[in-house]
Amino acid sequence: MQAMVLERPGEPLKLVERPDPQPSNGEVRVRVAACGVCRTDLHVVDGELPKPKLPIVPGHEIVGYIDVVGQGVERLDVGMRVGIPWLGRTCGHCYYCRSDRENLCDEPLFTGYTRDGGYATHVVADAQYVFRLPEAGDDAATAPLLCAGLIGWRSLKLSGDGTKIGLYGFGAAAHIVAQVARRQGRDVYAFTRPGDAAAQAFARKLGACWAGSSEERPPDELDCAIIYAPIGSLVPLALMAVRKGGRVVCAGIHMSDIPSFPYSLLWEERDLKSVAHLTRKDGDEFFGIVSKAGIVTETVPYPLHRANDALADLRKGRLQGAAVLLP
Ligand SMILES: [Zn+2]
Ligand SMILES: [Zn+2]
Repeated sequence: MQAMVLERPGEPLKLVERPDPQPSNGEVRVRVAACGVCRTDLHVVDGELPKPKLPIVPGHEIVGYIDVVGQGVERLDVGMRVGIPWLGRTCGHCYYCRSDRENLCDEPLFTGYTRDGGYATHVVADAQYVFRLPEAGDDAATAPLLCAGLIGWRSLKLSGDGTKIGLYGFGAAAHIVAQVARRQGRDVYAFTRPGDAAAQAFARKLGACWAGSSEERPPDELDCAIIYAPIGSLVPLALMAVRKGGRVVCAGIHMSDIPSFPYSLLWEERDLKSVAHLTRKDGDEFFGIVSKAGIVTETVPYPLHRANDALADLRKGRLQGAAVLLP
């Protein structure tokens, strides 16, 4: 197999040849057809997340086809089209696993962070955490659904049922969430980097009723806002934009420090919360919705060996939609 490997945070990934990985009991091996590039991969590569397994193959938005089935796997078979998400394994017995919150598991494994991921031609995954996908479909277009879509879905659920929803950072996650929110009958307000006219036009094309700079106040008070950009100074801005009793959800795994702000921004029962990871239930719900809602993803393809370029383009905000690696 070939893989793009991170040996030390802060260094470019290296293309390496390895023996094909063999699945253990309860695992499957998947031939990767497409792997999305998520902002979380940047946080891993840049050393902003603690204790990655090193060396690590990043990538947790994997679409592929099962080519070897390990012992004891019953629900999956060779040839099936599957998706492998960020949540790679949970312990099943901690307080959180037992209370239906496996996303908060005390001893989880995460794909492309603490177990090898999909910047590769092949990957091994725990069969219990693999999603079955429809047999037919565009693999590259499906890949961003595995994290941008899934975490987007969880953050949308946690934002409540308000009709006026703000999305801060109009990248891979927001461009999917905007479509889901529109189909739910919500009004979408898109906030981008100041001056990013292309991203604002992209947001309007996907149904946003307003698009502007994150430093602007929207024309209406919002019921809720979701922050996808990893920028802590957006938190007080989003709190300023939501109504009394409104909610602000931070959807990223990493964010720069939040500057201090007056209590009056939180006062009047405004909520501020984060979203961590996903549960398998989120995935079952989301893929059920996707098949009916006709979500269209915008992707920018890169060959596997150009993963460093894809990461650099994401870092610089040069992408519209989601980068996808094609081995
Ligand atoms: Zn657990
Ligand atoms: Zn991700």
